[in-house]
Amino acid sequence: MSESVRELIIIGGGPAGYTAALYAARANLDPLVIEGFQWGGQLMITSDVENYPGYVEGVLGPEMMKDFRRQAERFGAEYISDDVTRVHFSERPFRVYIGDDEYRSQAVIVATGANARQLGLDSERGLQGRGVSYCAVCDAAFFREKEVVVVGGGDSAMEEATFLTKFADKVTVVHRREDFRASPIMLDRARANDKIDWVTNAVVDEVVGENAVTAVRTRDVNTDELAEISADGLFVAIGHDPNTELFGGQLEMDEQGYLITHDGTATNVEGVFAAGDVVDHTYRQAITAAGMGSMAALDAERWLTAQEGHPYEALTAPRDPAPA
Ligand code: NAP
Repeated sequence: MSESVRELIIIGGGPAGYTAALYAARANLDPLVIEGFQWGGQLMITSDVENYPGYVEGVLGPEMMKDFRRQAERFGAEYISDDVTRVHFSERPFRVYIGDDEYRSQAVIVATGANARQLGLDSERGLQGRGVSYCAVCDAAFFREKEVVVVGGGDSAMEEATFLTKFADKVTVVHRREDFRASPIMLDRARANDKIDWVTNAVVDEVVGENAVTAVRTRDVNTDELAEISADGLFVAIGHDPNTELFGGQLEMDEQGYLITHDGTATNVEGVFAAGDVVDHTYRQAITAAGMGSMAALDAERWLTAQEGHPYEALTAPRDPAPA
């Protein structure tokens, strides 16, 4: 089954995808957003968001994503709440598949995001947004004068632990080995901080708490001995995985699997653009993803406009910037 060729398909329903959809819909590109079965992205497992400008009193992550989604819908963005299973970017129109259903477009924006790696514990899942967090920048301020555990031994864990000491009274880093993957400078900085305690050769066995985290149970990897660290929060900082399996062999990626862009949001395939955490392993914020989403829509629109014989050719004249 195949519908007619669209101007633009956006793959991904997080801050980048919805912002791209908003801009594209307002530019009359009639975008189809294939937002994923579990649309909303990483903000769906966050509770309060206090650092997104405009939400003066803060907002719940899922509420914010509903707002983003509705705002683009208001201007005509269409959604399919399913997962893309295959893409074909080697010729235009591009083809995007959900199972056997084929969708074709002149341009594509990839905004599939990244997932914070999880420990995989039921107790971790149950307390997400209620003390279990994957982003210290987002959530550290909720742990003022509290005690938290950070799990991980890389640069993220060191950075998050150090950042958390600005708020929390005590931070315990739990790492599964004796040696740390973190760069010496980051490790030394964390080691010099007397608010940080260290538990090595241990993994998190369970997050303890009914409706909020009250402790973190660890297991020594050599002796299997269990121990409990009293804590109000657990920050899991064991890395992120970009959602790029779909694009293997088609879009250029770095060694960690993040998409490589140039000249704004262009990928190596002309007409395919990428935005948000699927590209960005540095900032990883809703606001930066949203910003890149708007860039991708503007880039896609300009590219479509420049295509010979394209119906939007008439729009090549300088345009008024879209009002905010
Ligand atoms: P990472 O370097 O992959 O480190 C992940 C850490 O988590 C490792 O110590 C790993 O242990 C541990 N880990 C993985 N799975 C685990 C599990 N299931 N249970 C317990 N521990 C687990 O990831 P990252 O720290 O997020 O860094 C990613 C990249 O971003 C790196 O290149 C890093 O340098 C960069 N980065 C840079 C900065 C900065 O320069 N400011 C800040 C953050 C990140 P093992 O060591 O035993 O494998």
